[in-house]
Amino acid sequence: MICEIDYDLFVIGGGSGGVRAARMAAGTGARVGIAESYRYGGTCVIRGCVPKKLFSYAAHFHEEFEDAAGFGWEAGAGRFDWAKLIANKDVEIDRLEKVYENLLQGADVAIHRGHARLLDTHRVQVADTVVRAETILIATGGHPVFPPGHGWDHAISSNEAFHLETLPDRAAVYGGGFIACEFASIFNGLGVQVTQVYRGPQILRGFDDDVRDTLAAEMVKKGIDLRVESTIDRIDKTDDGLIVHLSDGEKLVTGLVMAATGRRPNVQNLGLDVAQVELTDEGAVKVDAYSRTNQPNIYAIGDVTDRIALTPVAIQEAMAFVDTVYRGTPRAMNHSDVPSAVFAHPNVATVGLTELQARGKYGTLDIYRSTFRALKHTLSGRDERSMMKLIVDRASQKVIGAHMVGADAPEIIQGIAIAIKAGATKQIFDATVGIHPTAAEEFVTMREAVPEPEEKAAE
Ligand code: NDP
Repeated sequence: MICEIDYDLFVIGGGSGGVRAARMAAGTGARVGIAESYRYGGTCVIRGCVPKKLFSYAAHFHEEFEDAAGFGWEAGAGRFDWAKLIANKDVEIDRLEKVYENLLQGADVAIHRGHARLLDTHRVQVADTVVRAETILIATGGHPVFPPGHGWDHAISSNEAFHLETLPDRAAVYGGGFIACEFASIFNGLGVQVTQVYRGPQILRGFDDDVRDTLAAEMVKKGIDLRVESTIDRIDKTDDGLIVHLSDGEKLVTGLVMAATGRRPNVQNLGLDVAQVELTDEGAVKVDAYSRTNQPNIYAIGDVTDRIALTPVAIQEAMAFVDTVYRGTPRAMNHSDVPSAVFAHPNVATVGLTELQARGKYGTLDIYRSTFRALKHTLSGRDERSMMKLIVDRASQKVIGAHMVGADAPEIIQGIAIAIKAGATKQIFDATVGIHPTAAEEFVTMREAVPEPEEKAAE
């Protein structure tokens, strides 16, 4: 039997963005329902940022054990138990999923389970329930995509990486973006022989070139076999394992192939066509600056809109949506100067413009760059270099980009992002006292700009 419920707001998708919007809207007195077809918490909590970071910690211990020797410890690496890591991670993810559900219940949001589909611009069907809502918010996230070609059905995406029964001896990771670099590092740190295959000339396209070159060099130093300007043309399954055919004719024998070749918005089977909700040419839900679709009562936030696919961005879009629709203070989310991190080994973090983008936008720049070996590695003996870079508009002296490769880069760049958001000049960075001895102090002690290309030519 079909039962009908009336809400002020119905949210489709129980990930970080959807849950935040539902809770905050309910906090203003709105009657709110939410539907999720998989698990509350969404990609970030269930099979993204959170378990990935736990894996990243696990993978780091390998080096920590090695580094300890230089400090007098005779620790040794011991034995790594993948099944135990997965089991402990699952307990934590189950806990977090419950936390999300409790937060919703505590905020008086009605929880629905099942796939939701729009019947028109105000009605949504979830299992045997039809919901009528004044406002609908689509926050369905995205999913990993496999490249075209033969044999990809033998490969996994990041979704499956969180539930592998065993860790293979060898793995091939395909792609050069966030997920590829993170998982190549994780598998490598856990003792798997990793080949990372990327079609372009250097990994992390879109990041600052110094970041790309530094990370690639450090990943190779740690033992990753990085193949750039190379593609996987087909994968065959044999009794010896998976045979990966590379574009140069080489065949790799491996136990696992992971595709990390991008993600796409979850727009399928949502009834978006029935409700006549417009999509972009790339297949994302099309929204304006206030996250409103072409249908005035339907909004969309997060990865399904394919603006910036990051959890904290989805959460801020959710807050802006609630301010706009339920608090009477319309507000567009500001998508500039969004910091981000790649939890590769070593870590990468970045905020603002790359050198290339800054040259296009501002012309003459002052670039400050520092590469160094962290203090810890004077005794550990590890040959790991860190890189920090500030990009300053010469005319205004505003710092318009900050980039780092090295331990704790995301923790450091978060603070720098506040300064950049506040419009800090290089003089303010210079007037800031460093904390000694840290790597972070380098960001306030770099004094000598790298010569600009034309200045170099004139020398
Ligand atoms: P990315 O867009 O970062 O990387 C995709 C990679 O796959 C690129 O190197 C791309 O190459 C390559 N690629 C795409 N299509 C093909 C193809 N047909 N054949 C071969 N190679 C291909 O996507 P991810 O999947 O790594 O991550 C998706 C998004 O999720 C990220 O952009 C990020 O917003 C978010 N994310 C954030 C994380 C974090 O904050 N730490 C962690 C993980 C994900 P090319 O560069 O040449 O296009």
